[in-house]
Amino acid sequence: MKYISTRGQVAPIGFIDAILMGLADDGGLLVPEQIPQVSADTLAQWQQLTYSELALEIFSLYVNGEIPREDLKKLVDDSYSTFRHEEVTPVHQLDGSRYVLELFHGPTFAFKDVALQFLGNLYAYVSRKTDSIIHILGATSGDTGASAIEGVRGKEGIRICILHPHQKVSKVQELQMTTVDDANVLNLAVEGTFDDCQRIIKELFADVEFKHKYHLRAINSINIARILAQTVYYFYAYFQLAKQGQANKISFSVPTGNFGDIFAGYLAKKMGLPVHKLILATNENNILARFVQEGVYQPGDFRGTYSPSMDIQVASNFERYMFYLYGEDAAKVTSLMAQFKAEGSIVIEGDVLKQVQADFAAYSVENEECLNTISDYHAKYQYLLDPHTACGAAASDRLAEDGEAAVVLSTAHPAKFDEAIRLRQISQTYPEPIQALFDKPQFQKVVGGTNEEIQKQLESFF
Ligand SMILES: *Cc1c(COP(=O)(O)O)cnc(C)c1O
Repeated sequence: MKYISTRGQVAPIGFIDAILMGLADDGGLLVPEQIPQVSADTLAQWQQLTYSELALEIFSLYVNGEIPREDLKKLVDDSYSTFRHEEVTPVHQLDGSRYVLELFHGPTFAFKDVALQFLGNLYAYVSRKTDSIIHILGATSGDTGASAIEGVRGKEGIRICILHPHQKVSKVQELQMTTVDDANVLNLAVEGTFDDCQRIIKELFADVEFKHKYHLRAINSINIARILAQTVYYFYAYFQLAKQGQANKISFSVPTGNFGDIFAGYLAKKMGLPVHKLILATNENNILARFVQEGVYQPGDFRGTYSPSMDIQVASNFERYMFYLYGEDAAKVTSLMAQFKAEGSIVIEGDVLKQVQADFAAYSVENEECLNTISDYHAKYQYLLDPHTACGAAASDRLAEDGEAAVVLSTAHPAKFDEAIRLRQISQTYPEPIQALFDKPQFQKVVGGTNEEIQKQLESFF
């Protein structure tokens, strides 16, 4: 299996090179040259597998021999043995046709662990095998940073520096990042906003000399390994429902920000998983919902919401979908992205828009409706949703049809977003690992939000 760029200007590369490249050198995103096809027979065989066994089968299709099977098995087993639930991503039934796919049983209580536990181990493996230095640099609005740090802390050959906006992430998120005391972790609390952090990172990565000198690698959701890891739970959830005789029409509702998670569902469907409908749920930052409904991809005004991990205007994985929507035409994607850069919008009409609406249904959830959904589910099902998952649940309630089994992807544990949940006078007890964070010392450096300042910090750390 080789990987190519959505913009067509990168010679096909292998799996490990694709992981290390992150963003394609031509500015596009890496995708598999061909999407592996899974037959109905294979699906039937996979139904009985455990989560880790299933992950091994799916990764094998994409790694294609570049990592020996027993090494890959160890990587997978190590990555998912850190989850608190033996099923890794269990499916919780709410009533006859409603389900929640719980993706928050990893070390940081958010779904990003599913991909970043694996990516962390993969980076450590590549570092060992190729004797290369891996320095990870990233910016976070909360969940990614905690999850990435947890994925690589204490691992030989790897150092990680994460920028977060000082005092602008939730308390639990801050503690998850800053109570880690491993020597290979540096937390920089930047005086500024998340956008400042992201801009600094972008500019440092764009400085090719600096990037190479310090062996910088990315962990954001454009990394193809993250997408692949996320396809696994769509298969896994489908099989759990199929075992209960629900195999007819199964839809997934996905709380969406950067389009990584839902793109993994789209990829699973393209591999042959018979998904009925993919529901794209956004909060008030609803560029993607507007795109599906009206065919216009254009950032709006930024809105603060109760689901900050979905407060995104320009979705970094969107380009991958464009590539498939236009029949893998890299020239078309290149011109569309150039148009987006120049004019600030992409407009799609006619049959192409019909195709978008066949691929996705979409709904955007307002702040009040998000909190109402948390209250309603708590009263009706005695089940506590976090505000991101609540957006998925609200969209599913709007768009799921009779006779359909609707699975809401739960992207975070409610304890991570207690500030929002308390607004509805719902109290919760923190799980023990979260409670324990409050008694630990914190390790972080508060720094000014300039490139020079960050550069100086990196030079002494890397
Ligand atoms: C990152 C995140 C999302 C959005 O996922 P994307 O892959 O960026 O669409 C949703 N919910 C939570 C809790 C997250 O951390």
